[in-house]
Amino acid sequence: MGNDGGSIPDRRDLVKSKPKAEQADRANQIRAMWFFCALSKRPLQEPIVSCPLGKLYNKDAVLEFLLDRKAFGAEGEVVCGHIRSLKDLKTLKLTRNTAKASPPSSDSVPDRAPFVCPLNLKEMNGVQPFVYLQPCGCVFSQAGLKTVAGSPPSKSPKADGEAGSDKGKDVASLDLCPQCGAKYDRTTDILMLNSPPEVEEDMRAAMLAKRLLEPAKGKGKKRKAAAVAADAAAEPPAKKQAAALPTTNPSIVAASRAVAQELAKEEARRKAGMSDAVKSLYAPKDGSKKKETFMTMGTFTRYA
Ligand SMILES: [Zn+2]
Repeated sequence: MGNDGGSIPDRRDLVKSKPKAEQADRANQIRAMWFFCALSKRPLQEPIVSCPLGKLYNKDAVLEFLLDRKAFGAEGEVVCGHIRSLKDLKTLKLTRNTAKASPPSSDSVPDRAPFVCPLNLKEMNGVQPFVYLQPCGCVFSQAGLKTVAGSPPSKSPKADGEAGSDKGKDVASLDLCPQCGAKYDRTTDILMLNSPPEVEEDMRAAMLAKRLLEPAKGKGKKRKAAAVAADAAAEPPAKKQAAALPTTNPSIVAASRAVAQELAKEEARRKAGMSDAVKSLYAPKDGSKKKETFMTMGTFTRYA
């Protein structure tokens, strides 16, 4: 085919392209992700929310799911099983696409993306990666946010004093949302929307690690950790591998160790803080019989 003088190759001979059907299928999938609610499969309509995995939902659909976890059948648990409550959701602040709408077609959903990046006006249609900021829910294209955020403020480590330099670093590493001015941490608070599978795996690991570190009161912490473990166990088989992987992730191991240490400390504190009155309720360790009070006289209790 060409180069032997016998024939002249054209583009069709040299460029290998995917079969048409495959291309169309991929385009449909992308369209479904960016134009439709991941749970109800209805066209996206504000208020739109997102989860720690960066999926897009209509808020009313997720509310319906949270009220009745069987409302969407097995599909509900597959798509939203990781959502525990409204606290796991963030209402997105989206910028409407004001570009002239395409002429109405027979399809109910227009070809134009309904939302754009407020920074570079790129359409949110799956061509460009989009992100949202966890603290405020503002949505930007990844490229647009990168342009605005620029490089992290450079600090010469020598100029910093040894003491307190850690604290200063924490404050300095916080960026401001270019739309609403809310503070966010560029390492943990930028979540990708409709991320590719390998990124989604990382996001799932980050979500589980974050849940392990969540502040909880007293014994609730133990229960919560168990609930998270149950969450991971309850993942559908198809996703089990993805869920199992993060447990070998060093950050998770570190997190669970930190939780265990916290629990031990708390227990010690609780014992130390026990008042004399409470202590007197328990039998002394040497086993000597305590004098009965009028409350316990003539009754059988395990304390007396
Ligand atoms: Zn914002």
